[in-house]
Amino acid sequence: MQLDNLYQEVILDHYKRPEHKGLSHLSDVQVHHVNPSCGDELTVNLSLVDGTIVLSWDGVGCSISMASASMMAGLLTGKSLQQAGEVVDAFISLMQSKGTQSGDEEVLEDAVAFAGVSKYPARIKCALLGWMAFKDAAVQVQGKKSLGSES
Ligand code: ZN
Repeated sequence: MQLDNLYQEVILDHYKRPEHKGLSHLSDVQVHHVNPSCGDELTVNLSLVDGTIVLSWDGVGCSISMASASMMAGLLTGKSLQQAGEVVDAFISLMQSKGTQSGDEEVLEDAVAFAGVSKYPARIKCALLGWMAFKDAAVQVQGKKSLGSES
């Protein structure tokens, strides 16, 4: 896989020094996602505190999956579910672009480093693992919150 050197560095940096890694005790929902084709595994804890996302995660896997989860957690923490949904959609559309998009840096920040990965179908699932786990968790947390005291 050939990626722009700068992008490769950004990805390796997040792999070596991941953000929000280590599951916090604070969690409204916990999801566990696996990517069998590569062997990546990820657990995401999501909480909503006053409508604001608090994320933590842990996992094992390739540098792409772990770096992507780190960026996802860094980008989405502190946002509302609606704001986060827009970022997630932008990342998913970038990963489905087969290398034709470079990504909006205003929205995706460091995660534009994955633009080149979208040319490698085998690695797209690695890059999307954390984001799909968040999406799943977001749906569950909304269900839980709307049930209110009945849950
Ligand atoms: Zn992987």
